[in-house]
Amino acid sequence: MEPPESAITQRILIVDDSAGARLLIETALRAQGHSRFTSVDSAQAAFHALAMDAEPLNAPPEFDLILMDLLMPEIDGIEACRQIKSCPRYTDVPLIMVTAEESPACLKAAFEAGAMDYVRKPVNRVELGARVQSALRLKQEMDCRKAHERELVELTEKLRRLSQVDGLTEIANRRHFDEELVRAWRRAQRQYESIAQPQNGSIALVMIDIDHFKSYNDEYGHLAGDDCLRRVAEVLRTAAKRPFDLVARYGGEEFAVLLPDTGGAGAEVVAEQMRAAVEASDIPHGRSRLGRVTISCGAAAARVSGLEPASLIATADRRLYEAKHAGRNRVVGAAEEVRSCA
Ligand SMILES: [Mg+2]
Repeated sequence: MEPPESAITQRILIVDDSAGARLLIETALRAQGHSRFTSVDSAQAAFHALAMDAEPLNAPPEFDLILMDLLMPEIDGIEACRQIKSCPRYTDVPLIMVTAEESPACLKAAFEAGAMDYVRKPVNRVELGARVQSALRLKQEMDCRKAHERELVELTEKLRRLSQVDGLTEIANRRHFDEELVRAWRRAQRQYESIAQPQNGSIALVMIDIDHFKSYNDEYGHLAGDDCLRRVAEVLRTAAKRPFDLVARYGGEEFAVLLPDTGGAGAEVVAEQMRAAVEASDIPHGRSRLGRVTISCGAAAARVSGLEPASLIATADRRLYEAKHAGRNRVVGAAEEVRSCA
């Protein structure tokens, strides 16, 4: 029976204190088409060949299969097997015990130490070949399964990230913002209720709208409008300095900024910095009074338990419209915090 192509490339370690036994096994493996094997004469030499103490501990193993003589001076096969199997790199590498000793107690000890199979001595070529092949096939299937699992984990992570990002501006999307707001809200409530940190538990929000965006689109077309959204998003993202601040596209030309652990005054400062940064980025807008793109901001903060996140959004939204009606390109906030739904 011919071994599969990949089996021939798999690496085998032969551990036996008898030169004659090693030669016999090598000859049998060679007859099966295997060429990538290493022979050593002791458990110590095996540990060295396996690079058992190499870093990192989960590095890929040096071998795909180990053939281990049971009776050896100093460290015997069972003890060697136990030590190899306790090494994270070799947990999933099959080990076949090669033994002249076939007492049930001895075989039980070998299996308990982590051997997956055993071959009788003196070695019969056909038997050895069959056992080696099935062990290698198992190893290969396990490798494939693990590679698939890794791919799946990576893909899931990639999809998770994609589902949180706005396709046009590449900042957080509305869905991710809603999830993060609820999460930050719960965290703020826990902090508010905790006596240990009575100064914490505040959460702030800035709602932002690009001024005269409809006329920007009318003037320059929708492709330029998309580009304008991307540029403003980038300016806002850069202006949000702390790693846990979240800038999201809320919808259309609206953005929302979530500022955990921030009070009303802090939110106003951030909003003003964002307003100034957009104005300073100098994106031309022929139908705007200033001749460039500007934003209006409504800021709000809450430091109460029992309120719903929606009340904070509603307050920030109301202030955004106040900013619009007061002439745009400005921030409306209130240093005092939202204390009730009213
Ligand atoms: Mg021996």
